[in-house]
Amino acid sequence: MTTEIPPVESPAPVLLLGDPLLRTVSAPVTDFKAPAFELGRGRLQATLADFRRKHGFGRAISAPQIGIARRFIAMDLGDGPRLIVNPVVTWSSRERLTMWDDCMSFPSLLVRLERHRSISLRFQDETGAYHEWERLDLATSELLQHELDHLDGVLAVDRALDRESIVMREVFDAQRLRFVAMVDYVIGGADAPAASSGSP
Ligand SMILES: [Zn+2]
Repeated sequence: MTTEIPPVESPAPVLLLGDPLLRTVSAPVTDFKAPAFELGRGRLQATLADFRRKHGFGRAISAPQIGIARRFIAMDLGDGPRLIVNPVVTWSSRERLTMWDDCMSFPSLLVRLERHRSISLRFQDETGAYHEWERLDLATSELLQHELDHLDGVLAVDRALDRESIVMREVFDAQRLRFVAMVDYVIGGADAPAASSGSP
């Protein structure tokens, strides 16, 4: 069971590329009743909700992006807020694909990189209960690979495939067809291949 946490805390500023806190390897959450964890998860969920309200998109944010060096992620795939704590990838598909990725910590950039098409994940929720998601669909898989990287201080720009693979968003938008033709998958795009079934 997932307990919904209302975003009672105020949103925090999202740290931007260059901030050393984005490069921290975060520590596991061990005390699920610690006031610092409760405050932190409330702030993270409030930050995601605020971003979604202002920009109309934004599916997830990781704790280090607001300066909390702990391994948890706030996620909302449109079906309400969810907290992913201490996630571990238990399986990755052999199949990989290329895509243009973006990040709230460098919103004006797109980065061409490679992700596994599917992963399985073991994680805890905000109460500490364990969950397993098997062979997730493409959209959720690539999102979680991005967020898990944040927990290790790794950013999408680190995974750029070559020197043509970091692009300003305005250039991308102006020449969208050319850039889309360079990848296998586009986030939220009608031109994206059908995602395989899975949960959530
Ligand atoms: Zn990011």
